[in-house]
Amino acid sequence: MNQSVPLFIDGKFIQSTSDQWVEVTNPATNDVIAKVPCATESEMSRAVESAKEAFKAWRNIAVPERARLMLRYQHLLKENHDQIATLLSKETGKTVVDAKGDVWRGIEVVEQAANIASNMMGEMVENVASDIDSYSFMQPLGVCCGITPFNFPAMIPLWMFPIAIACGNSFILKPSEQVPLTSVRLAELFEEAGAPSGVLQIVHGTKEQVDFLLSHQDIRTISFVGSVPVAQYIYQQGTQHFKRVQAFAGAKNHMVVMPDANKAQVISNLVGASVGAAGQRCMAISVAVFVGSAKEWISDLKQELSTITPGVWDDPKAGYGPLISAQAKQRVIGLIEEGKAQGATCELDGSQCQVDSCPDGNWLGPTLFSGVSTDMSIYQQEIFGPVLLCIEVDTLQQAIELVNHNPYGNGTSIFTASGGAARQYQHEIEVGQVGINVPIPVPLPFFSFTGWKGSFYGDLHAYGKQAVRFYTETKTVTARWFDDDIPTGPNFTIQLK
Ligand code: NAD
Repeated sequence: MNQSVPLFIDGKFIQSTSDQWVEVTNPATNDVIAKVPCATESEMSRAVESAKEAFKAWRNIAVPERARLMLRYQHLLKENHDQIATLLSKETGKTVVDAKGDVWRGIEVVEQAANIASNMMGEMVENVASDIDSYSFMQPLGVCCGITPFNFPAMIPLWMFPIAIACGNSFILKPSEQVPLTSVRLAELFEEAGAPSGVLQIVHGTKEQVDFLLSHQDIRTISFVGSVPVAQYIYQQGTQHFKRVQAFAGAKNHMVVMPDANKAQVISNLVGASVGAAGQRCMAISVAVFVGSAKEWISDLKQELSTITPGVWDDPKAGYGPLISAQAKQRVIGLIEEGKAQGATCELDGSQCQVDSCPDGNWLGPTLFSGVSTDMSIYQQEIFGPVLLCIEVDTLQQAIELVNHNPYGNGTSIFTASGGAARQYQHEIEVGQVGINVPIPVPLPFFSFTGWKGSFYGDLHAYGKQAVRFYTETKTVTARWFDDDIPTGPNFTIQLK
């Protein structure tokens, strides 16, 4: 397969006329599997124009009808779950189990979008003054857009467009140029579900295409998920152009291990949460903070991690897949070398890992560091690979201070048998998503995905009620009706249209 990835503009899958294309590779082999265009300026303009036009009709479609589109879409996504997961595995390298999870977490958001009417309910106060009532309701904004990363090609686009469109907006998606194929399949199924032409558009490209969207006057909102420098850039540029922006960024997530925790649970959960999906999850645990005597479990953790091996997507023995690209692998190896040079103890080094059936893949074995301090670059940077750092502290309070001192605030977790310790942790920790004996506390879509601090720029988060607020404007009406105008008498009849 070496296909040209189509754009999806005005309800049609079309080939770009661009002279700039990016190669899409299979990370397990580095074979080129497709090429994706950097959309031309006129293609970008057509996408915005078509989305603007589609919004005029779509905003007036009854809310239950918009919800029914999501019900049909959810059904089709479930029917095609395995097929989407297989495609997703090929472009990301994820194991099939992981890929199915990626699609499933997106389907759950579509289910939430099907519940849009109850989430769009307004408010009312009767008699705010004599004979006067006030009420507010939500209306869609217009053309919204989303820019997504490589690591969840199904889940993250599905965080965005189903909720935005259920609210009555139209949407332009610019997926990661590293994994554009899954998005195209998501769009095909959306069309099959009955989405009107132009309500969803897909454009492809890199910085130039993103800059076009950031500055276009007809685009009302920008939803972004990706790395810290790009998130900061998107937030600054988007708000400078008076757009509503939510920008989800990188992370450094800590798991605090108390000495009274269930040791077997700690070890198996730490292994899965740190190297699962090759550590390429924004909610992966990348730092384990051992409190007091819990540090004695590090040798068992090392033993368990050493049994995990990466492999190709359909190998049932594979613990996880390759890194997304050769550059990503080289970057992680560079950080591992810096960790060693800066004095951390490399208990397990995955740099030389090979998978015999695919010698050219971007493989990296599980890597474990102990004796890590907060001034080392492996602690200060998001590694985004199968690398776990161990830090030792004496008390829970010291653990809390360490985590709170970190600039990121996406996710964290505490493993303990003490309700008191868990309660103190959940109360004092300055992180937006907290797990108690749960390693990766990603909220289900009736809540919102609530990263804090350097992991999020904006005010309203993804999915849940916050997303409905993000994709709508509130209108407040103050209404007065006069008693004198009430028709009276036996001959009064209501004139129907
Ligand atoms: P990335 O920032 O490189 O790319 C994300 C998107 O931005 C892509 O669509 C890309 O084309 C575009 N882009 C890249 N450079 C740009 C530039 N200079 N100007 C404008 N647009 C640009 O991120 P990635 O490597 O694809 O994804 C991994 C990152 O995403 C990690 O840092 C991870 O933590 C983060 N992430 C965060 C969350 C979260 O919810 N906080 C979720 C998933 C991933």
